[in-house]
Amino acid sequence: MVDDGVCGRDPAVRVAGAGNDSRSDELLAAGRDPETGVAVAAVGSTGIAGLEPLMLATLDGETAFFSEMDTDGVRALVEALDEGTLPTDDAMAVVEHEPETASLPLPDEGPLGVGERAVLAGCGWTVPTSTADYRDGEFLASETTADVMGQLREEGLRGRGRGDVATDTPVVEEWETVAEADGDAVVVVNANEADTDAEADRLLLESAPFSVLDPAFAAARAVDATDLVIYVNESERLARERAKTAAQTLDEAVDRLSTRIVAGPDEYKAGEPTVALEAIEGNHRLESRRTPPGPSEYGVDGRPTLVHTPRTFAQVGRVLAGDDLGGVASDPGTRLITVTGDVTSPATVELSTDDGLDSALSAVEAGGRSLACVGGVFGGLTRTLDVPANASGLTGAQLGTNGVVELLGESTCPVAFAGERARFAKEENCGRCVPGREGSNQLVNLLRDVYEGEYKEGMLRELARVMRETSTCELGRDAPRPVTTAMDGFGAEFAAHAEGRCPTGACDR
Ligand code: SF4
Repeated sequence: MVDDGVCGRDPAVRVAGAGNDSRSDELLAAGRDPETGVAVAAVGSTGIAGLEPLMLATLDGETAFFSEMDTDGVRALVEALDEGTLPTDDAMAVVEHEPETASLPLPDEGPLGVGERAVLAGCGWTVPTSTADYRDGEFLASETTADVMGQLREEGLRGRGRGDVATDTPVVEEWETVAEADGDAVVVVNANEADTDAEADRLLLESAPFSVLDPAFAAARAVDATDLVIYVNESERLARERAKTAAQTLDEAVDRLSTRIVAGPDEYKAGEPTVALEAIEGNHRLESRRTPPGPSEYGVDGRPTLVHTPRTFAQVGRVLAGDDLGGVASDPGTRLITVTGDVTSPATVELSTDDGLDSALSAVEAGGRSLACVGGVFGGLTRTLDVPANASGLTGAQLGTNGVVELLGESTCPVAFAGERARFAKEENCGRCVPGREGSNQLVNLLRDVYEGEYKEGMLRELARVMRETSTCELGRDAPRPVTTAMDGFGAEFAAHAEGRCPTGACDR
């Protein structure tokens, strides 16, 4: 049994995904035998749900992967390792690696071989809250003496995720604003994401919390912040617990910050950065704030506040560590993509920003796909995933950038899909601004008119333009995207519905 790290322990058995379900815990308990010299550890999720719980057996710098194993199998595995044998007969893959590595060894094929693993390196391999497994306890935040902002400016790193104050724009500008503003600064790790298809931030906090919080502590030091807030959904107990443990460790090792975890509501709007500020302040009525000034000037309790998602902080960590980020110069690094929808199990993979989105598809078993919604709830509909996984490539293709590829089967009607997302916008908006509140209402009505024989394309497009250009926050700005991309790509389906037909047969006509 290991109380701390597992990297470098040999022989070892890792249970990936442990902590997430009772089956993992049973396997873990079955493997832990104090009579043997085999280290048996609960590690985080790999992000590939269909393989988990995944057993990883390591002996002499070689790891065998087993995705289907019962408790008897685990006992036999531990016994064989204790006797000096690595069983490989039923393994889905066997990989040789450096014995001490802190990065998940990657098979050449299969879901774990998709993309690369830079920010996901420790996911499914390291004990999430172990300091020994994370950079041997050498925190970036205590090492950082260099010009952090100069590094960020030079790299041109952009924010990731809809909950980020610098979504798809250079992060350094927000850091400089916070550092120069009057008042004691605050750093917020915004991990509140009620879109259950967008799994990347939860995966990082649960499986590699130091990779998020170490850079967040470094950011606090760089902008001279006194407070760090980790804002997580109410329902995400495991992410909160692991974030709390990691933050306490960092607090003792690096900086005495005032650190707190805030559980936010499981509502879509609660992830918007200015709504996050309201929730952190304890306000019951959650509304977006008008900007400017944005959070970096006027944030939590009126103080300058740096708001980034876990995805962004993990990329900041790569910059601080001096990694070669790779990817395209305009959006360097990697992007985490969750492939979900009409699949057997969802998978979160990491793509270089010069990869195509379609390269993520081999991480899942999908049904017959006819279209996809890219970018989250208010992503864009598309028939092709031959689109680069970077900010300009995705937005240029009218798609969203929130790291979700939702595959939709042949029975999905794009008109009904657009209507469902418009209804979601109508129900979830905070009511603060007219374009968001009334616009989403009118969007629903105009789509209902299609079913009653009137396809007013010009009015729909004009309404979408007004919402995009005048809504106070990103919810209203993004809400028309499923509708406009459905009209762009599936105009014939709209015309057919106005004539009383649904080509897919999905709508009750
Ligand atoms: S767009 Fe307007 S109504 Fe909708 S959530 Fe944002 S502020 Fe509220």
